[in-house]
Amino acid sequence: MQRVIIYDTTLRDGMQGTGISYTLEDKLAIARQLDAFGIDYIEGGFPLSNKKEAEFFRQVREQGLTRSRVAAFGSTRRPHQQAAGDPHIRALLEAGTPTVTLVGKTWTEHVQHVLRTTPEENLRMIRDSIEVLKGEGREVFFDLEHFFDGYKHDPGYALAVLRTASEAGADCLALCDTNGGTLPAEVSRIIGELPRGELSCLGIHCHNDTENAVANSLAAVDAGAVHVQGTINGWGERCGNANLCAVVPNLALKMGRELACAPNLRHLTSLARFVAEKANLIPDKRQPYVGEAAFSHKAGQHADVVAKAPRLMEHIPGELVGNERRLILSELAGKSTVVRRLDKYGSFDKNSEVVQLLTGRLKELEETGFEYEAAEASFDLIVRRALDRYRPLFELRNYHLESFKATDSPARTVGRIFLTTDGSKELMGAAVGVGPVETLDYCLRDALATRHPFLSKIKLVDFAVRVLNPERATAARVRVFVTSSDGEKTWSTVGVSENIVEASWQALVDSMEYYYNNYVLESGEPGQ
Ligand SMILES: [Zn+2]
Repeated sequence: MQRVIIYDTTLRDGMQGTGISYTLEDKLAIARQLDAFGIDYIEGGFPLSNKKEAEFFRQVREQGLTRSRVAAFGSTRRPHQQAAGDPHIRALLEAGTPTVTLVGKTWTEHVQHVLRTTPEENLRMIRDSIEVLKGEGREVFFDLEHFFDGYKHDPGYALAVLRTASEAGADCLALCDTNGGTLPAEVSRIIGELPRGELSCLGIHCHNDTENAVANSLAAVDAGAVHVQGTINGWGERCGNANLCAVVPNLALKMGRELACAPNLRHLTSLARFVAEKANLIPDKRQPYVGEAAFSHKAGQHADVVAKAPRLMEHIPGELVGNERRLILSELAGKSTVVRRLDKYGSFDKNSEVVQLLTGRLKELEETGFEYEAAEASFDLIVRRALDRYRPLFELRNYHLESFKATDSPARTVGRIFLTTDGSKELMGAAVGVGPVETLDYCLRDALATRHPFLSKIKLVDFAVRVLNPERATAARVRVFVTSSDGEKTWSTVGVSENIVEASWQALVDSMEYYYNNYVLESGEPGQ
């Protein structure tokens, strides 16, 4: 099997995605991760576009990348100019990368209306630009913009572009579905019609406008392409690019292709999450292979089969891509799911009293709007209570919050809290925050800081609110999820109430008590 080259464009095409912007530091950090994963090529950006891009190419040389080659991206020379002096070509050479990816027009209508030149001049632009870059010792990949649309419109011209680039010395010809409207069967047919023996190696660059970017990329490989371009998580312009988080495992695990990054496949999930964090986007739970739900099982009976014979219910073991199987607690959860979730505390019989009790309790809570799929820490506290292995952090006496706003100043909330610990000792906390939830969190920490120094390690990293019955308008019940972290572990908790402050309070207290019971009391760390 011929090796397939993976070419990542997260830092160039991926930056065109709505709501995505990476700082220079982010780009360098992503490049280091892509290199560690073993991606063959990293497209760093468009050196002509701005200073940040040019600076990336300077700094990336000092990152000591060992597996990935960095490519600069840019377009062919302008019409009727010398390639050697052209600002596009100069910027590409100044980027100092071993590889340059040049993009050129393939669709005659674009040549005519966008470049405003003749089809013949476009061919000369392609030839000259490639020759200058090759003359400077660069490896040159040629992206044929709008290749599939261009081919459908005028196959003779699209072929002339392929031949010109090939003869000029391009090392790879990447066929682009720039508008993302091509379907897999068309990709197979068109590649099948190309005179492959006469051309340099073929690559594929797909966009996801018909949800076929991954399928089109695989079809292209099947038809003979040996270089695939895409982005991590599929983020990119409009609906995005081919998602490398699906392309890579599909090629390695399903199509048996050799990939340089295949030995690191088990780091794929963490790579996907790392890029999501840098993009400041919440990872898509339902993403194939790397999403949180990709190996989650909900229905009771179904989960039972998963436990006995996972291969009957999963297309691959999630560990292969660094993901994990999750057995979700839900209204459908059977007793066997509860039994497995109790594993941590010993082995329990399906018909034991505690399993019956927990299954019933779970049903009750879920009926009122609680959901434990994404709040395992809150569920852990329910289990601990049932097993008598729970110790409260404090007893609430009362809290009081007051939000205020004066003209021209931002709203604030001031609050105080009274607690007792060990049944008698009274503690008080007070704070001001931007809103009630932050104020409550500060008040709790203020009251407990001396007694429980571990709290200073815990940070709230995410807070999400969902309205459960919007038809009740402002009296609707809300569900709050809080995700917390101590820098190493993260855990999530849930609260439900008609009052958003109360729902948040429940999730906040669960977060602290979960950590207290699992990591402070049980590890015997100081500060209890
Ligand atoms: Zn693109």
